[in-house]
Amino acid sequence: PGKLYVVATPIGNLADFSHRAVEILQQVDMIAAEDTRHVRMLLQHYGISKRLISLHQHNEDKVAPKLVEKMQQGLTIALVSDAGTPLLSDPGLPLVRLAREQGIDVSPVPGACALIAALSVSGLPVSRFTFEGFLPRTTGARKAFFRERLLEPATWVFYESSHRIQAALEDMLEIFPADRQIVLARELTKLHETIVKDQLAVVFERVKNDGNMRKGEFVVVVEGAKVDKHKQEISEEERRILALLLQHCS
Ligand code: SAM
Repeated sequence: PGKLYVVATPIGNLADFSHRAVEILQQVDMIAAEDTRHVRMLLQHYGISKRLISLHQHNEDKVAPKLVEKMQQGLTIALVSDAGTPLLSDPGLPLVRLAREQGIDVSPVPGACALIAALSVSGLPVSRFTFEGFLPRTTGARKAFFRERLLEPATWVFYESSHRIQAALEDMLEIFPADRQIVLARELTKLHETIVKDQLAVVFERVKNDGNMRKGEFVVVVEGAKVDKHKQEISEEERRILALLLQHCS
């Protein structure tokens, strides 16, 4: 019977590719890839030549049923994205869902994932966390999003691009207390890896004043709100937050 392997690829450092991932890519009949040129370079590095099918966010609804048909005929397929674990802010959900619905074996080949890598070095609690993917692209939508997250008690994580990291932190600073701890994880596993943990206002200043801090890829980890269930009175900060929330309740 056919099978679908969901294969994580490196998020920067090629040495993070697992032995098993290489073996699986050697074995499968074809590879479904977000960007076939990108994966061809990775495959070349390991001397693998394989039939590649392009599967990205704009064609995956159409391509998924065709690939499932091939697996029903007995072929094995590996799904990879450009970096890290497929489906995490990456294509693949329609294929995995349909394969499962059709009773096809779906098996993970785990590896790098930027959000997990960032959490693992954040020093913030990770027993509970929320992953928010990419933030909304406009200031208005971003601030609305931040307002909703303000009282979230668990650690949360988002992805951001170099074009928007400064604007995102600036918007965040308008909504969040300046001393909320955040971790900015930049270019993880790469040459210019930088991990900064500090108060929001301090991290924002650093990003604003140092052009290098706006280059590359970013994960931001945010400390949860401190909620004291036994406290009777509300603090100045809580009063400010309540006022902010009420402003937007109409
Ligand atoms: N599926 C991937 C994963 O498992 O992490 C994420 C894909 S998403 C399209 C790409 C985003 O992930 C980037 O914009 C950045 O926010 C984050 N990212 C990927 N690689 C990274 C790295 N080496 N350092 C920091 N962030 C990274």
